[in-house]
Amino acid sequence: MHNLRPDLKRACTMAYTPSLPSFAAIVVAAGKGLRVGGQIPKQFRNWQGKSLIRYSVEALSEAGASPIAIVVADGAQDLASEALVGINGVIFTHGGDTRQQSVLNGLVALEQSKPANVLIHDAARPHLSQDVIARLVSALEEHSGAIPVLPVVDSLAVAGDGDVMAGAAEREALRRVQTPQAFRYMHILAAHHAWSGEKIAGDDAQVLQARGESIALVEGDERLKKFTFAEDFVQTGSAPFRIGQGIDVHRLVDGEELWLCGVQIPHDKGLSGHSDADVALHAITDAVLGAIGDGDIGTHFPPSDSKWAGARSAQFLEHAVKLAHDAGYALGNIDLTLICEAPKIGPHRSAMREAVAAIIGLDEGAISIKATTTERLGFTGRGEGIAAQAIVSLQRL
Ligand code: MG
Repeated sequence: MHNLRPDLKRACTMAYTPSLPSFAAIVVAAGKGLRVGGQIPKQFRNWQGKSLIRYSVEALSEAGASPIAIVVADGAQDLASEALVGINGVIFTHGGDTRQQSVLNGLVALEQSKPANVLIHDAARPHLSQDVIARLVSALEEHSGAIPVLPVVDSLAVAGDGDVMAGAAEREALRRVQTPQAFRYMHILAAHHAWSGEKIAGDDAQVLQARGESIALVEGDERLKKFTFAEDFVQTGSAPFRIGQGIDVHRLVDGEELWLCGVQIPHDKGLSGHSDADVALHAITDAVLGAIGDGDIGTHFPPSDSKWAGARSAQFLEHAVKLAHDAGYALGNIDLTLICEAPKIGPHRSAMREAVAAIIGLDEGAISIKATTTERLGFTGRGEGIAAQAIVSLQRL
């Protein structure tokens, strides 16, 4: 390494990646994620094609973490299993009343495998790089703990009563702390056991530091920020609006019920198909899936799967709306056209709008249902089937 320019010396150091000491990991995913909004906790929401938690668990797995204990709230186990399917070495354990108790549960879940080291991470920080993991684990050779930190760049004010500045703080001595935080396993386990009954801990480093142990500060990563608000899920540059369209056709036959937009329509024939053959809801469902670029109704509910035989089509649409929500979009409006000679749609229009509004949770004013004939031309004109076309708009949450 002698006689190298400093920049080349740095490049050589970075290219050398020694194998890391072995370590296990805990990913805390027990939070309710209420600040983000949405129907499911933020750590299980879809973000750019994957569940948020999957990003960091994949990064930990790639770095060699084993086992990886996932701490989940009661009732969220199915969401967690689905989000992490196919990743080896993952085990699940229950969350506690506080974050500190959740971490302790995770540490106890690792007791059988007795790891030398453990990384403890928040599920809502997806951008976990291999470099950060390597810096943390390497620091454990000399310290009981290691945490990723960033400098404070803004100046700091101390707030007094009535929102008046009471003084200033020295930013030079302060650091912003991220996760994962790395520890020698037996040390952090003992510290968490001893902490029981203490005030709520800010993080695991505070629990270990309270026992006077040495915790290294290593370089963090600005991209490792925690997803806190709904805006964090919005992909930079993603469109504020999206449009989708869907088309469907079903055959009219004797002896079947006729369902349109979730409403049963009295008619001498009905639509045949694998589900309830609601051609209108199928077209709307495909339009929603089209707007988020997530396949079509056949991808999500294959006709080859017997569990969808006779299914209510409302559940297909409900699922598509949920997928759109997970992708960060809410429905704006729907414009549906039914194409048939009979039955007459007009007398049922209001009931159909009401039914679609109830399925989607949208105002009836945002749902248009139109009908046309094809002047007795073609299969719709001959009464052999009904066709439906839907266009939907989505707006960013
Ligand atoms: Mg269909």
